[in-house]
Amino acid sequence: MKKNYNRSISLRCVVCGSADHFEYNDDKTYVKCTLCNREYLGGQEELQEMNEAMITEEVESIKEEVSKDVAKELTEMFKQAFRGNKHIKFR
Ligand SMILES: [Zn+2]
Repeated sequence: MKKNYNRSISLRCVVCGSADHFEYNDDKTYVKCTLCNREYLGGQEELQEMNEAMITEEVESIKEEVSKDVAKELTEMFKQAFRGNKHIKFR
């Protein structure tokens, strides 16, 4: 498989997706994204929880993508096998 399934899983703003515009207070109980001004009043913990949900979704979509590709490959394999062998005998 040539496709690259790697995706970034660093903490990202759930609104704008930026990972580089976070402003924390001293004990990280308050986080603000300076790009879209989204405030995380639960701090880093809230941000992490939201990201985990996002990552879970992403993993699910990657899994789906992979199995779709595998299914496609298998179909092609079968098609080619049948095409090259018109007189298949089943035992
Ligand atoms: Zn943002």
